[in-house]
Amino acid sequence: MIRLHGPRLLALFAVVFASLPAFAHPGHGKDGGSNELVHYATEPVHVAPFAFAALAGVAAAALVAWFRRKA
Ligand SMILES: [Zn+2]
Repeated sequence: MIRLHGPRLLALFAVVFASLPAFAHPGHGKDGGSNELVHYATEPVHVAPFAFAALAGVAAAALVAWFRRKA
């Protein structure tokens, strides 16, 4: 298993979250498919926040385990 220490992992997530709003993509408005469920399920820009939220949950659990091991 890859061992990432808490503070570094937190920094990684902070960088990823900060960069998300920079992405623009086709599929809205005149390009069509704006309300297609498939678009929201397949476009990384829409899927990523949920994926990162799940990863953040895992990271939080890892942080708790890390602090418990340290104490
Ligand atoms: Zn979209």
